[in-house]
Amino acid sequence: MTAVCDDPGVADDEIAQPVPCVRCRRDALLNMAGHCSDCIADMGLNHVEEHGTWRAELAELVKSGELAGA
Ligand SMILES: [Zn+2]
Repeated sequence: MTAVCDDPGVADDEIAQPVPCVRCRRDALLNMAGHCSDCIADMGLNHVEEHGTWRAELAELVKSGELAGA
């Protein structure tokens, strides 16, 4: 078997770009509508209202096409 690592359409460093979370200020590779996965989980468990606000923001981003596949 030969491993093929030749995908001209994908630039690794563009994908793996850490984005600081707006809530906890930590750099996170997984960042949805400004929030890292930790904060999303925390909001879902402990801050339901905040979570609802975030979900609305996320829906807006998806609708405007800024964020795909969420
Ligand atoms: Zn966070």
